[in-house]
Amino acid sequence: MDELLTEAKKTGSGITDFRDESPNFTDEASIESDRNLVFRIRERESKLMRKIEHALKKLEDGTFGICEECGEEISEQRLRARPIATLCISNRSRAGMLLSTLMSPTLVFPAT
Ligand SMILES: [Zn+2]
Repeated sequence: MDELLTEAKKTGSGITDFRDESPNFTDEASIESDRNLVFRIRERESKLMRKIEHALKKLEDGTFGICEECGEEISEQRLRARPIATLCISNRSRAGMLLSTLMSPTLVFPAT
């Protein structure tokens, strides 16, 4: 009985080792999710590259650090945290501002 158990363990570990070495043993689902992950990372990288290129172009024509929406200078603090920022405030704070404007009892409209 003990012998059989030892034999089974040996065989078991043998299969595990083989599994680790051979990609054929990886199931389709995990290969698929790996591909998706690689794709997502590449997509994110190319988006970031476009943003960096955009920022460099702005640096060339002297509009770097200027908000694309209101033309105000983007704060140095914000640029330090996010050098590729093209707006003076983030979309998140924009959404927050919109929300607080809508929630306020008297609607305050911008002076422009
Ligand atoms: Zn702005």
